[in-house]
Amino acid sequence: MSIRTNIQDILKELPSHVKLIAVSKLQSEDAILEAYKSGQRIFGENRAQDLQKRFDKLPENIEWHFIGHLQTNKVKYLAPRVAMIHSIDSYRLLQEVDKEARKNGRQIDCLLQMFIAEEESKFGLDEDEALSLLNEPDLPALENIRIKGLMGMATFTDDLQQVRREFRTLRSYFDRFSTIKLPGNVKMEELSIGMSGDYKIAVEEGSTMVRIGSNIFGERNYE
Ligand SMILES: *Cc1c(COP(=O)(O)O)cnc(C)c1O
Repeated sequence: MSIRTNIQDILKELPSHVKLIAVSKLQSEDAILEAYKSGQRIFGENRAQDLQKRFDKLPENIEWHFIGHLQTNKVKYLAPRVAMIHSIDSYRLLQEVDKEARKNGRQIDCLLQMFIAEEESKFGLDEDEALSLLNEPDLPALENIRIKGLMGMATFTDDLQQVRREFRTLRSYFDRFSTIKLPGNVKMEELSIGMSGDYKIAVEEGSTMVRIGSNIFGERNYE
């Protein structure tokens, strides 16, 4: 199977309002270029310095999304380059993204990463933490970020009913946050759920962005 056919097969499964993010972490630049030549324009990376390197080298009309855990001291590598950060998990981090975006004269789209899995290891906010972030008195003054929705990762399990339940939990947060009074720089529009193993369920549960790596590129080359 080629990268081109893999992308075409996935696109056939996706309703037109669902964006495909090709997760290129740990893949070669040649593989990314092959996906690019098949028409793919949105790519996802989970290390700030990898995104920096690839942005600087690869075609400039690629839209780069950051999907990994982000430390505040790495935001400066992303700020001039990234289109969307899917992994905001604290107000402190959001303030840092705003500050660095302002230095670069940019506005950066962000998603709040919500904790929905049973695993201890996954990052993210719970419902109350997200609500208190959305109620921060100074949030409306962060003019260089826009919160566009939520992101989540389901438990890594074969139990697809559990995965579906976790996606529904996220969807219920999304619906609830949509009903509260939000500042002008916050809109509940995007729901970033679904990876190679569970994207069909995610689409059924309301995903607007799927993040797919191995189904496009094959196995990753961990060093
Ligand atoms: C690696 C990764 C993906 C893609 O995973 P696949 O199973 O290869 O599709 C999606 N989202 C996040 C946050 C990731 O780290």
